[in-house]
Amino acid sequence: MRLSTYFMPTLKETPAEAQIVSHRLMLRAGMIRQSSAGIYSWLPLGLKVLKNIEQVVREEQNAINCHEVLMPTIQSADLWRQSGRYDDYGPEMLRVSDRHGRDMLYGPTNEEQITEIFANSIRSYRDVPQLLYHIQWKFRDEVRPRFGIMRGREFLMKDAYSFDLDKEGAQNSYNKMFVSYLKTYERLGLKAIPMAADTGPIGGDMSHEFLILAETGESEIACHNECLNNNWLKDVDADSNLGKIVHTFTEKYAATDEMRDEKTERALGSNLITARGIEVGHIFYFGTKYSSKLGAVVTGPNGEEITVEMGSYGIGVSRLVGAIIEACHDDRGIIWPETVTPYKVGLINLRHDDDNCTNACDNMYSLLKDAGIEALYDDRDKKAGVKFADMDLIGLPWQIIIGPKSVKDGIVEFKNRKTGELVELSAAAALNLLKG
Ligand code: ATP
Ligand code: MG
Repeated sequence: MRLSTYFMPTLKETPAEAQIVSHRLMLRAGMIRQSSAGIYSWLPLGLKVLKNIEQVVREEQNAINCHEVLMPTIQSADLWRQSGRYDDYGPEMLRVSDRHGRDMLYGPTNEEQITEIFANSIRSYRDVPQLLYHIQWKFRDEVRPRFGIMRGREFLMKDAYSFDLDKEGAQNSYNKMFVSYLKTYERLGLKAIPMAADTGPIGGDMSHEFLILAETGESEIACHNECLNNNWLKDVDADSNLGKIVHTFTEKYAATDEMRDEKTERALGSNLITARGIEVGHIFYFGTKYSSKLGAVVTGPNGEEITVEMGSYGIGVSRLVGAIIEACHDDRGIIWPETVTPYKVGLINLRHDDDNCTNACDNMYSLLKDAGIEALYDDRDKKAGVKFADMDLIGLPWQIIIGPKSVKDGIVEFKNRKTGELVELSAAAALNLLKG
């Protein structure tokens, strides 16, 4: 992409309204713009990151045979009356009515809707278990929307739902999703800590939150230090290990804020770590809470009726954009992990008005394009200092810098955004490093 034709309205000044670094950087990098309190538009650069995160989440859900659907944002109030949550949910729910005066709502979550779909579609035990998910915008009228898209009112969530014949099956679905979450966050370049959690208004009796460490996080973390050090994913390929891993977390390592009492401290002793974190996912097992009220019942092998056991599994897709920035930045700006970066490499032309320099940059850009490497080419008529600052701000993992001197020497400067390391290479060698 040529920056001269792109829409990337970067800001030099730090916006006064932004309290935390991810919010500041997202505004400054031209990723988002506020529409009203807790409601944002996503501009090209921000949208690209959001889509990349969404795609990693999608691939990991598909990998455990969880099937993608897309349910609407607007739901009927009647469904929520059947589950009893229409009144329970309170002022966080945005309630609307249509032209016929029917009560509708903008979905804060989709348990009712997916349960109705299941109930209308699946009748036999043979078609269970099922795992279904969607990635859809949610609305929650948060009391205090803040920190940009981290606590928005409108936000993008991946929510999955499991349907099983018995508690054992439900536990297995839960374990599958638990381990899939660890893989998802690892692919996103994050170290996520699962913590046993309170089930809140969604209900149920088994739940974990996934938190990533950040000083600006709203949640308190108390856990065993091995939680941070161990590579939990190294032997999870066999399904039989799933239960063990989840059990280890549940029984040994994970602790909640509520559990951060004397008992936890005594049990963990000097291994106890306390820190702050951002909640980037939350999973629940809640049994027959919704299936019993909404008729999600199948016929068993002997003709008996089985009310299915359910769980729900959320990931804050839009919150993750901010959470990744909180975890990956420096004084100069964002440092994107390779899996979510909007472009893999930034190409900087230091002398727009020098034909040799521009030709060398155009050639490099063609080489990158032909190799299928996504590049953002700063071909603007701007000072070198502005180009350096913008490129560091938007955080692409690699930079290729070309000026009159490098053209004369037949090299390019190749910079690692994270370490700042700068090496001189031939164009072909730089290309090879990016391909590898
Ligand atoms: P929180 O305690 O942060 O309000 P929650 O427990 O209400 O979260 P869930 O209902 O479990 O959230 O939703 C699943 C995920 O959606 C959360 O783990 C979080 O990452 C994300 N999420 C929830 N509320 C918001 C919000 N207002 N803005 C952005 N993301 C959100
Ligand atoms: Mg909430």
